[in-house]
Amino acid sequence: MTDTATATTTADVARRPVRETADGTPDAGVDVTKLRKEILAELTYSVGRSPETASVRDWFVATALAVRDRIVDRWVIEHDSEHARPKKRVYYLSLEFLIGRMLFDALHNLGLTEATREALAGLGVDLDQVRGAEPDAALGNGGLGRLAACFMDSMASIGVPAFGYGIRYDHGLFRQGMRDGWQQEYPEDWLSFGNPWEFAHPEVDYPIGFGGYVEQVNDGGKPKHIWRPAEKVEAVAFDMPVVGWRGRHVNTLRLWSARAPDPISLDAFNRGDYVGALADRVRIESISKVLYPSDETPNGQELRLRQEFMFASASLQDLVRRHIEDYGDLRTLPDHVAIQLNDTHPSIAVPELMRILVDLHDLPWAEAWQITVATFSYTNHTLLPEALESWPVSLMERLLPRHMQIIYLINALELEGARGKRPGDDALLASISLIEEGGGRRVRMGVLAFVGSHKVNGVSALHTELMKQTVFRDLHGLHPHRITNKTNGITFRRWLAQCNPRMTQILIDAVGVEVLDDPSRLERLIPMARDSALQEALYAAKRENKMELARIVADRNDVWVDPDALFDVQIKRIHEYKRQLLNILETVAIYNAMRAQPMRAWMPRVKIFAGKAAASYRQAKLIIKLANDVAKVVNSDPTVRGLLKVAFLPNYNVSLAEVIIPAADLSEQISTAGMEASGTGNMKLALNGALTIGTLDGANVEIKEHVGDDHIFIFGLTAQEVEARKRKGFDARAAVDASPTLKQVLDAIRDGVFSPDDPGRYRELVDGLLDHDNFLVTADFDAYFAAQRRVYKLWRDRAAWMNSSIINTANMGWFSSDRTIGEYASEIWDVKPTLG
Ligand SMILES: *Cc1c(COP(=O)(O)O)cnc(C)c1O
Repeated sequence: MTDTATATTTADVARRPVRETADGTPDAGVDVTKLRKEILAELTYSVGRSPETASVRDWFVATALAVRDRIVDRWVIEHDSEHARPKKRVYYLSLEFLIGRMLFDALHNLGLTEATREALAGLGVDLDQVRGAEPDAALGNGGLGRLAACFMDSMASIGVPAFGYGIRYDHGLFRQGMRDGWQQEYPEDWLSFGNPWEFAHPEVDYPIGFGGYVEQVNDGGKPKHIWRPAEKVEAVAFDMPVVGWRGRHVNTLRLWSARAPDPISLDAFNRGDYVGALADRVRIESISKVLYPSDETPNGQELRLRQEFMFASASLQDLVRRHIEDYGDLRTLPDHVAIQLNDTHPSIAVPELMRILVDLHDLPWAEAWQITVATFSYTNHTLLPEALESWPVSLMERLLPRHMQIIYLINALELEGARGKRPGDDALLASISLIEEGGGRRVRMGVLAFVGSHKVNGVSALHTELMKQTVFRDLHGLHPHRITNKTNGITFRRWLAQCNPRMTQILIDAVGVEVLDDPSRLERLIPMARDSALQEALYAAKRENKMELARIVADRNDVWVDPDALFDVQIKRIHEYKRQLLNILETVAIYNAMRAQPMRAWMPRVKIFAGKAAASYRQAKLIIKLANDVAKVVNSDPTVRGLLKVAFLPNYNVSLAEVIIPAADLSEQISTAGMEASGTGNMKLALNGALTIGTLDGANVEIKEHVGDDHIFIFGLTAQEVEARKRKGFDARAAVDASPTLKQVLDAIRDGVFSPDDPGRYRELVDGLLDHDNFLVTADFDAYFAAQRRVYKLWRDRAAWMNSSIINTANMGWFSSDRTIGEYASEIWDVKPTLG
């Protein structure tokens, strides 16, 4: 069982993925010579290079194209043949798809990884280098966008016929650089060398209107509304095939790009006004230029609303056209179409579908509304009040005048219904109204999505419960069967098999190759958790992964970390509610303790941070600077050398996550309880054998239930207690006075111990914490510090630690996104998966 775990030393051998042969996976019968010929043909005829002059990037493009050809055969069959037409399709509308690199996804799911490695090796080319030449498709900010990507993989894998609809941003999430420890944002440019996975369809384009007025005409005694937009944009389709596990099913990710109907103003050009000649085009095409840089703060930007409407409208026009071609009649739409709104960003689709049904297809309002509600469902991702999307009525009236009328009518009818059910309850009416009054009237997109959907889901059990009690309390009262929970999941294909081949091979040897198809089979590890051979094999694999990460840390941060130290990682967007600050405070506390007693038998530890802060989020950027300042002092202090290292790795993205997660021992999931809707990083890390230190927040609660209380380090206030503390008014100064450890830490930071170049840098941060500790960092500090001591007590006993680690992996099967998608399919979409 230990062969791959111990025999691998160099990175290229190490990255070798699992052997897929015994069970008749496609890999077994692949003709390597043929594959090599195909790659060479692509290199010559599509890239236009000879093997002698080809760069790594050329080889990547040639390989991707050769693989893509194999996907396309099946794709075309599934989409163009009459017989293959599915009864019902899912349309997943998301403003974000955080996909990452795609080559290994495709290779792994087609069972072509080993064959491709061999085919390229015969040409003197290393597959792992080729893999590294692919840019990350970073069309998302964080968890929400990554969830959409995992769902696309799962829908293709269990056979849910689906389209993902989104925007083809020219520039995805910014690249994060560091200057003197401060975050710098640089534009991301994933398309600069083309995208070999996509098919441009300039002929698939839909007109998107903005502005103008609504004309009311008399249509045989009935009033009819015609929207006359002032401005037209074209939405053009770019398709990427999404191949599922074992290549049995292929779905489509269709991303829209904005195009100006008139590419240039010749008049202006001929006058010599070359910039003016392109001005309209630049303005219009800016709609799909950049991903919005934040998913947690409202950004009242007109361009954002234009993005939302363009992609919602184009997607609806596309699916309505397909439905009419296939079935001829829009009244059967809910029988054949399920539309999932990933957060409120696409919820303008609700009035847009009403407009299509009522204005363009002459359906009566009531019938159109029934169809709409039966077709849509909505996933809520946050309870943070500042992140609940709303748009000024004035902006909506100017940009989307007809939609605003429709929203008013939806609202009037909803309020009438509520009045019927609860007469005289004005507070209720105010709380469920689509229009927020006072301080400038605004449209509440969450309410719009809620009333326009037959199901509304939260993303973890706790989050769904809190949804019922807080943001949607009154709507839940009126529609008690609408809210449902669908706890998030992750695709094990990317987050175990591809990113951690060493561990995967050991798991296959232990429980059988069937585990690749059935993650519940991981439970067979439970009785083996104390088996010392298994423990040692997994420990050795983890150590190899840590060695690889150590090389990256040395390379990028110029710090050497010991692969035998405990790797304590917190990798996620930088946000106050995620409490990276709490982790930094604990780091300083342990640093102080080590300096006070350098001769004690400390266990060596490495604190690893990674994550981006929204460009406009000052406090988050200051927290990054603090982590880097602490790192600088700690890493250069001879007293703690070898005992404590701190590294903030720049530019966190999917590819970096794929390297850090397999190398993690401890997973930090320490958000203020009640604030993290689910988390998915927590799942990736636990699956890869990291133990969790965390609060009872989001899916941590369910992870705890699955792995058991003895195998997770839970600490801190519960969501209820947080609520109670906030209501009472929490006194941070009293908490700090009661904790000498914390007091010493805060004093050191405030007094400039970590910022000798600018001693006042953190004064405001520390004073702010004492005056209004909104995220209860000081309240949870002692409990967190104590939980960390429990971590080290277990870490000292390797057998006990590995037992817990194996128990974690063994019980994570339920967190597969295949399970999540199965639940959406049966309980929300009414679609039967054809596979899995
Ligand atoms: C999984 C993932 C996330 C989400 O992480 P959380 O810890 O759940 O916030 C964000 N970014 C990337 C790149 C991811 O892979």
